[in-house]
Amino acid sequence: MLGKRELRILVRNDRYYIKPINNGEGYLVLKDWGLRVKYAGRIKWSGKQGTLVIKLEDGRWFAYVPITVGEKPARSNPKGYVMGAYEKIRIENPKGNNKAFIDIGLNNLFAVAFNHSDTAILIKGSTIKAEYYWWKREIGTYQAIRDWLRNHGFESWRKYHAFYLHAVYKQHERLRHYYRTAIRFLAKTLWQMGIDEVFIGYPYMVSQNDGNEYNTNVWWYAKIIKWLGEVLEEYGIKLNVVNEYGTSKQCSICNMEHENGRVKRGLYVCETTGIKINADINAARNIAKKAGYEAPIPRKILSYIVTTNGAKPITPKEGATPETPKVKPAQKGREGVIKYK
Ligand SMILES: [Zn+2]
Repeated sequence: MLGKRELRILVRNDRYYIKPINNGEGYLVLKDWGLRVKYAGRIKWSGKQGTLVIKLEDGRWFAYVPITVGEKPARSNPKGYVMGAYEKIRIENPKGNNKAFIDIGLNNLFAVAFNHSDTAILIKGSTIKAEYYWWKREIGTYQAIRDWLRNHGFESWRKYHAFYLHAVYKQHERLRHYYRTAIRFLAKTLWQMGIDEVFIGYPYMVSQNDGNEYNTNVWWYAKIIKWLGEVLEEYGIKLNVVNEYGTSKQCSICNMEHENGRVKRGLYVCETTGIKINADINAARNIAKKAGYEAPIPRKILSYIVTTNGAKPITPKEGATPETPKVKPAQKGREGVIKYK
């Protein structure tokens, strides 16, 4: 008896690509034949595609795309990356096994300390704060006019209600853009520094002074942490959330709680040793301790500001401060800031 003959067509990994239309269908584009073949079926995995195998089985053609999960496509074939419907996209693998510790806040959106380095990173929140307050004023103005008109029986209140809604929407969109920009930048920087695991502080406790602003910020922090986790995953970096309770009060140098430890202008002063440290980096070092690590006292701080088109360094040319950080004029105004503790 003759064995069944199997018909197989092999297509080299850089001679085809997949162009999804939606989750369930799309086109298989065969470059050498100039062919677009419609496919149906869900793609599960994300990764670098291998040799395409087209088989005739029971009178029907089936295409098999082997995927190396987590691997980038060949340079000759940038489209050779298959995006799965369910799996998270993973573009990179960690370069090292270093740990990063993040305090999240308003003056410094991210204050980052490391276990392997005496460099710290500050991503300033000043532009985001300015944007937030600018829209807050807009929203308040439209709201006031709208209410006045409505209370006095003017139909034009509807117009101001539309302005108000637009301003609420714009504020959200602008903040979202800034946060996502900062997160992208941070994730890439951490990957470049050989980080494979991140610990971030999150305020779990219910606040006593739960003003509107507090809730707004905590709401954003929850989002930021979720987004950060997603972007870090693209780099194969794990994100852990640590209860930040007490991390801003405790001294990361002597482990005591100094009554007046957190002083003005973003500095924490250790009363035992006299060492001054950036207050948010102090908190980041305490997050490290909570996670069971030690982060050296930073000798160098790299500061960045978030702009509409990326994070920009604001530290002097070399990006270095030789000693334990000194106060910079840019940090003033801490007193006027919303507290979320
Ligand atoms: Zn101390």
